[in-house]
Amino acid sequence: MIPLVDLTAQYHSIKKEIDEAVLSTLESGHFILGPAVTKFEESIASYLGVDFGVGLASGTDALVLALRALNIGAGDEVIIPAYTFFATAGTVMSVGAKPIFVDVDPQSYQIDVSKIEEAITSNTKAIIPVHLYGHPAEMNPILKIASEYGLKVIEDNAQGFGAEYLGKKTGSFGDIGCLSFFPTKNLGAFGDAGMVVTNDPALAERMRMLRTHGWKKKYYSEEVGYNSRIDALQAAILQAKLPYLDSWNEKRRELAQRYSEKLGSTLVIPIEREWGRHVYHLYIVRSAKREELQAFLKQKGIAAEVYYPLPPHLATPCRKFGYKEGDFPHAELAALETFALPLYPELTLSQQDEVIAAVQAFVK
Ligand SMILES: *Cc1c(COP(=O)(O)O)cnc(C)c1O
Repeated sequence: MIPLVDLTAQYHSIKKEIDEAVLSTLESGHFILGPAVTKFEESIASYLGVDFGVGLASGTDALVLALRALNIGAGDEVIIPAYTFFATAGTVMSVGAKPIFVDVDPQSYQIDVSKIEEAITSNTKAIIPVHLYGHPAEMNPILKIASEYGLKVIEDNAQGFGAEYLGKKTGSFGDIGCLSFFPTKNLGAFGDAGMVVTNDPALAERMRMLRTHGWKKKYYSEEVGYNSRIDALQAAILQAKLPYLDSWNEKRRELAQRYSEKLGSTLVIPIEREWGRHVYHLYIVRSAKREELQAFLKQKGIAAEVYYPLPPHLATPCRKFGYKEGDFPHAELAALETFALPLYPELTLSQQDEVIAAVQAFVK
């Protein structure tokens, strides 16, 4: 049985450090915020080369708090890619704003920067590029458009932690970068966790207030906020894992390259643009015979999963905006044809060979 991702393999590879982090948190008596959270926020900010990190309960909350901190709400429009995890669209809607979709580049699956300008109206407030699957979005054109039209940029970097655009870490370009430490992400907690990062001290302060009921001073709410703090336990675990992130991402890249060498003639393989460093959160291939191939692999004990079968503009909550099939053809075709093969740093070469052999057997 080869799973899509094996979380226990990673735990066992660094069990001693994780167990120590957990036990020392239990002994510390600090469970909500406190020194472990502050230390982790500083470590992430320094890894990304930004000034501030604010630890939150999830990546979804990171997007919500980023939108709230930038005063985006009812009547506003936010430009997002037409192919992404639904949270990118759902969070825009949850603050009362309208998602405006832009089709994706069919090869890199990132927002098609040549189609952003035509989506801008007088109500547009922000662009949310998503570094989907671990490949960076094309940031320079996005930043240029944002500055020309006075728009904010929020990076959804849930899948791109460690990725680079022209040698600089994704998540560090926008007004705010959003991270998820959901267990399967490249840096994963043992539960839900997320973070926002920024270079703007006022935005950092506002998001710190929003994560604790809008308090600047305890019990004195200045606005309606949330309970959305990263657990100290998760922060301590992630702190122990962070030193391994670069080597894990490197491992992902090596395995991805190996897949691509052996499967390039049988499937459509992922690309890496010359300006980007891909961290392969997911190894995404495509085939017009996806369902049959998936069933064939399953029967051989190999997991292959679809991310994502439905583009967000066709999801039920977006129906009220009048989007319809055919609006974003590249996103819609990707939803029909793409799927992920098993890829995680602990995947062994012999396991990978089994996957490769199975895919090749299907094609023959
Ligand atoms: C995982 C993910 C999120 C949400 O993160 P959670 O921590 O699961 O709330 C948002 N956007 C994208 C692209 C994601 O992959």
